Amino acid sequence: QLAAQLGLNRSTVHAAMAELQALGVVQTAHGGGTRVTAASWSTLLAASPDWRDWVAAGEFTANQPLIQTINQREPTVPIRLSTGELGPDLLPKQRVQAAMIQAANHMTTLNYLPARGSLALREALVERLHRWGITTTPDNVLITSGSLQALQLITAGLLEPGATVYTAPASYLRSLRVLEAVQAKWVPVPVDGEGLAYWHIPQTTGAQLLYTVPTFANPLGTVTSVQRRRDLLDFAQRRRLPIIEDSAYQNLWLAERPPEPLKAHDRHGNVLYLGTVSKDLAPGLRVGWLVGPSAVVARLADIKMQMDYGASSLSQMTLTALFRAPDFDAAQTTLRNRLRERRDAALAALTAELTGLATWNRPTGGFYIWVQLPAQVELNRLFQAALQAGVLINPGTVYGTTERALRLSYAYATPADFRQGVRVLARLIQDQLR
Ligand code: PMP
Repeated sequence: QLAAQLGLNRSTVHAAMAELQALGVVQTAHGGGTRVTAASWSTLLAASPDWRDWVAAGEFTANQPLIQTINQREPTVPIRLSTGELGPDLLPKQRVQAAMIQAANHMTTLNYLPARGSLALREALVERLHRWGITTTPDNVLITSGSLQALQLITAGLLEPGATVYTAPASYLRSLRVLEAVQAKWVPVPVDGEGLAYWHIPQTTGAQLLYTVPTFANPLGTVTSVQRRRDLLDFAQRRRLPIIEDSAYQNLWLAERPPEPLKAHDRHGNVLYLGTVSKDLAPGLRVGWLVGPSAVVARLADIKMQMDYGASSLSQMTLTALFRAPDFDAAQTTLRNRLRERRDAALAALTAELTGLATWNRPTGGFYIWVQLPAQVELNRLFQAALQAGVLINPGTVYGTTERALRLSYAYATPADFRQGVRVLARLIQDQLR
């Protein structure tokens, strides 16, 4: 009756009644009939701020709708060509388990650690970074909750509103909203076969910095050449341009070891270097690090103290035990070998299924293949149709480019699933070209 009076459909009224019942403001009279008392209405109204206004008001803007969809669907979709993480069969569960037991047996504290991180872990990192030509001290290392947090700390601590951030035309940074809190301006810098064509960066006043992933970039899969690294660093030093060097994929080479990071040749402290265990060990540990001048590390550690009192001490102890384990380096070699098999299987699948329909690069490390599609293909349609067929992909738009391209990851899906996923994509692309 009420539904008819209000012109609503019955299920809407039922749902509303159920919600009111759950809130405990509905009275059911003996002779039948359900009502909301005047007293309950006033309780209800008094108790309910309009959360939609609040939700719209926060400083952090919402993620792009497309990324929200990817994030929501990722846990349940059958074939994940989107996921930039090691698949369950590649994650080192037993080694992490052993390290956790080791950490538990030698647990030094359950208290907060210093906000900049455990000294034992920073020492272990200093030693590991040295193997990459980076000479540093524990005072120059800040442990973060993943390198995403390092980017947040940089934004909060170092960037003035309206700062300019230069990045590759398709860049991981473009898929994040992290810099928007300070209204940073994105400016794409063209790339060529060797890396960023830095000479396009204009000489302007105001705060500006460069964000780059020189080794096995996300999403392009490229490696900046040795010469370009040198020239880029020279340029940055002449311009006094700070560089954020994000080296998340550095350990995952599949051919020869990649060139030394920019940080290894950073004589004047231009480079803030970011590392993480998320790509070659376990993203669930939530541990990353920033290496930079001590004034920067002190400033960011102070902010980290105010934000979360420091990264999880249990994760830090576990990671310290992992680094100390005698089989650590051998296990990394095994991981590279298995990832190489996946990369090769992925490239073979692309050749078999997408020849003539798309072009792609042959990555020499990391997780990603950048697949370029004909201009007629509508990416959004392809994304939706693939999702319906149980295949999740990351369209290039996620990374801020208008190119008709996809980022496919061979790290998560098994080779059989990858092949099946690419077969579905081939069919859908053909449908669009018809
Ligand atoms: N940098 C790059 C280039 C990445 O691809 C990722 C993970 N997608 C991260 C940083 C962040 O990883 P985490 O916060 O887990 O360390």
